[in-house]
Amino acid sequence: MANVIVVAGAGVSGLTSALLLSKNKDNVITVVAKHMPGDYDIEYASPWAGANVLPMASEENSRWERRTWPELKRLAEDVPEAGIHFQKARVFRRKKDETAPGVHPADPLFSANPWYQSVLPDYRELGPNEVIPGHDSGCEFTSLCINTAIYLPWLVGQCLKNGVVFKRAVLTDIRDAKALSHTGRPAKIIVNATALGSLKLGGVKDDTMTPARGQVVVVRNEYHPMIATSGTDDGATEMTYIMTRAAGGGTILGGTYDLGNWESVPDPNIAVRIMKRAVDVAPGLTGGKGIEGLSVIRHGVGLRPYRKDGLRLEAEKLDGDDGETVYVVHNYGHAGWGYQGSYGCAEGVVECVEEIVKVGS
Ligand code: FAD
Repeated sequence: MANVIVVAGAGVSGLTSALLLSKNKDNVITVVAKHMPGDYDIEYASPWAGANVLPMASEENSRWERRTWPELKRLAEDVPEAGIHFQKARVFRRKKDETAPGVHPADPLFSANPWYQSVLPDYRELGPNEVIPGHDSGCEFTSLCINTAIYLPWLVGQCLKNGVVFKRAVLTDIRDAKALSHTGRPAKIIVNATALGSLKLGGVKDDTMTPARGQVVVVRNEYHPMIATSGTDDGATEMTYIMTRAAGGGTILGGTYDLGNWESVPDPNIAVRIMKRAVDVAPGLTGGKGIEGLSVIRHGVGLRPYRKDGLRLEAEKLDGDDGETVYVVHNYGHAGWGYQGSYGCAEGVVECVEEIVKVGS
């Protein structure tokens, strides 16, 4: 018998979950969402991401990112229409950030001898004359950068090819999704990939969700390699990173990581600081012409779906209004690593669904 599944959410988490679930022909899948690829909205994080792979998890929580790299690598190698290309990444550390208060100093990305050195290719420590001024050390490895404007629609296309049906819907309660399968039959399993929506969504109402606001400047200038630094002198909520997207997607200059800030409008003062820091760490971005040499495509703000205790990936049994239970598989709370953990998390969703089907049959 078919497993009727409704996936709530069409960001990278919902789409990748739907794609992996659709590989099993017993699963009949509908994706329902308020926002779909093509939309740019403050309630929709995925289009705003850079998006690259700079591992952020601790070693014990590294499963999601470890399991995602091989598939993103395969796409960068063999599937040009997915809009992903390889790029070297250089990560620079300052000693003073090891003890500074803030979110990023603690990121495992900046540890010496990080776990990911055995996962991402060509890892090496940089020599002293390769480290940019104002920094104490750094490393380099091969990573990749995703053009989200190409990749999200590509994911939709892959899902459509496998028979997934897409519908717009605004849910007030996660259990409402049960009635939204295109088959007309009640869903047995709902996948909750509503990200920050889970804060207010009935049946979930996870008040440990909060935005980690990210402001960026997208420019036409290109720069290689990608750069990320461990801290800035502009306050704990500001960051410096640069990545050039595949296939003419422009270069993302970042950024900020501001917990609890819901402001959707780009702050011009922050924008100037982002651009100044970018040309400081990478003067070649404008051929030495400073920020006047930047050709700005747009200023943007996205809200990373931050969860206090990290990712929620688990199955839950909920009682419906009709007195019948429905299983909800949660996959939300990815903060700033939704792409680089997407396939690992979607595999986790598939495991939860398989377990539910096994127990229920
Ligand atoms: P979202 O993309 O927010 O999707 C949520 C979906 O749920 C939407 O379709 C929405 O409409 C739907 N929804 C919510 N509530 C409801 C409701 N009540 N009814 C119906 N539908 C609902 N990640 C990386 O891996 N690498 C990076 O380099 C990177 N850089 C980033 C830079 C910035 C500036 C930002 C903002 C994020 C970055 N991220 C990066 C993080 C990444 O973007 C997120 O982790 C990821 O997009 C989260 O995806 P999601 O599908 O869980 O959520």
